[in-house]
Amino acid sequence: MDYYPVSIKNLIRSLARLPGIGQKTAERLAMYILQQSAEDAHQLARHIVELKKRMRLCERCFALSDDRLCRICSDPSRENGLVCVVEQPADLASIEKSGAFKGRYHVLGGVLSPMDGIGPDDIRISELIDRIERDAIREIILATGTNVRANPRLPILPAFWRRCR
Ligand SMILES: [Zn+2]
Repeated sequence: MDYYPVSIKNLIRSLARLPGIGQKTAERLAMYILQQSAEDAHQLARHIVELKKRMRLCERCFALSDDRLCRICSDPSRENGLVCVVEQPADLASIEKSGAFKGRYHVLGGVLSPMDGIGPDDIRISELIDRIERDAIREIILATGTNVRANPRLPILPAFWRRCR
C-alpha cells in the first residue's frame, strides 16, 4: 500500500475498519470515491458527519432518531397501547420493512443473559415497565430471540401483570 499517497492510504484504512470490508474492497471503494465529483464526495462525508452529530435515541422507545421522539412515536396513526419489544434498533427496522405492524416499539438495547452477567438492570426493562402505565400499554409483543439467553419474559411479565390489576 506504500505506493498510495497518504490521503488515499488514510481513506483505505478507515474504510477497511468497516464490517465486511477487507483491504481489497477498501481500495476499490477509495478509488471509486476518488473518481466521483467533489460534490458527491463532500455529500458522502457530510452525511457521515451529520449521522454522528444528529443521531440519538428516542426518549420514549429508544429507537434511533434524529429528534427527541422518533418517527414512529411521533406518528399519530400508530396504535397506542400496542408495543413490540425488540432487542436492537436493527430488529425494529426488520419489522418495519414488513409493513405488518402498526403499533409502537420498545428497544431493550441488549439481550438478557444472566450467564454473561447481563441482568434486567442492564437493558431497558424498567423503562418498559414505566411505559406500561404512562403510555397505557394494553398489549406487549415480544419480538426477541427465542433462545434461553435472550428470553426477557420472566422479568417483564410479573411487573406487567402487577400494573394491569
Ligand atoms: Zn420512539
